[in-house]
Amino acid sequence: MRDLHQQIRQVLADAATVAVIAHVRPDGDAIGSVLGLGTLLTEAGKQVQFILPDGASALYKHMAHYDRIQTRLQEPVDVVVVLDCSDLLRTGDVLNGRKVDINIDHHPTNELFADINLVEVEAAATSQIITLCAQHWGLGLSKTAAEPLMAGILTDTIGFRTSNTTADTLRAAALLMEQGVDMSGLYYNTLLKRSYQSVKLWGRGLEHLQKDGRLAWTVLDEDDRQASRYSGKDDAELTALLATIKGVDVIVVFVAQDDNHVKVSWRATNGVDVSNLAVSFNGGGHAPASGATVEGTLDEVIERVLGETKKLLQERRKQD
Ligand code: AMP
Ligand code: MN
Ligand code: MN
Repeated sequence: MRDLHQQIRQVLADAATVAVIAHVRPDGDAIGSVLGLGTLLTEAGKQVQFILPDGASALYKHMAHYDRIQTRLQEPVDVVVVLDCSDLLRTGDVLNGRKVDINIDHHPTNELFADINLVEVEAAATSQIITLCAQHWGLGLSKTAAEPLMAGILTDTIGFRTSNTTADTLRAAALLMEQGVDMSGLYYNTLLKRSYQSVKLWGRGLEHLQKDGRLAWTVLDEDDRQASRYSGKDDAELTALLATIKGVDVIVVFVAQDDNHVKVSWRATNGVDVSNLAVSFNGGGHAPASGATVEGTLDEVIERVLGETKKLLQERRKQD
């Protein structure tokens, strides 16, 4: 590990220009990692490209360098760092064949696609890895970088609630608070505050909620988005709400994207691992939280995914 940090330190030291890239449909950890590491590198005198293939939610617009976020990579660039991505598909089409120098991630499904792969599966967030390792890479923390990094940790752990929240997660949060971050303010802004439209969308999702044994699922389609005037094509974090249902081990949320693509999100408790199931649908993630974008009509995808998810739960029952 020490050797890996040395290598990262050297590669960054030798670079004048660095691109930091995270995944499509970015969550708080993707945005926090790009803004956080990008800010640290900028403060170290590097010319930085902040890249998120789908841009970033306006929730983060008050953060430093938000307005420098681009959706494309501009060559030439000395070093490319990919953050919070388990595979290269997650970077959309920004790389265009360009090799990745450094891969920093915490997904167990990571495909180790770079020259240097720092994949810490026990870390609760990529932002946590950056926070705790920055000093080994010759980068000092600052308040401007601490804010997005804290947002990344808060969102990936749903406010320190996920089972992968460890003493190291809290140590990282403490380091960031020491830089002067307003943790409770960020907590409210990134996790609790919701638009009226997103709560209306929840209403539609809750109306469609179904349950079979220890599996519960719901569906959101274009009609639901129009009825609630919700503009995104995500689940408005309905997954986090459904994951609190008592007596349920797995929840699945299906969000129609277009006539032939459905975003599927799995959340699991009680030690059920849904990551391999997500990989089998060309997605990925963590044991308790995984996702995939699946080709097919809404009805087809629901049938296939529920079929495989039920099989997983049956296998598990056999083992018990
Ligand atoms: P989501 O259901 O989109 O909130 O994602 C849950 C977890 O699965 C996150 O850790 C994502 O990084 C991961 N994930 C979601 N979609 C994909 C995908 N298409 N490929 C790989 N990992 C994914
Ligand atoms: Mn992510
Ligand atoms: Mn993450």
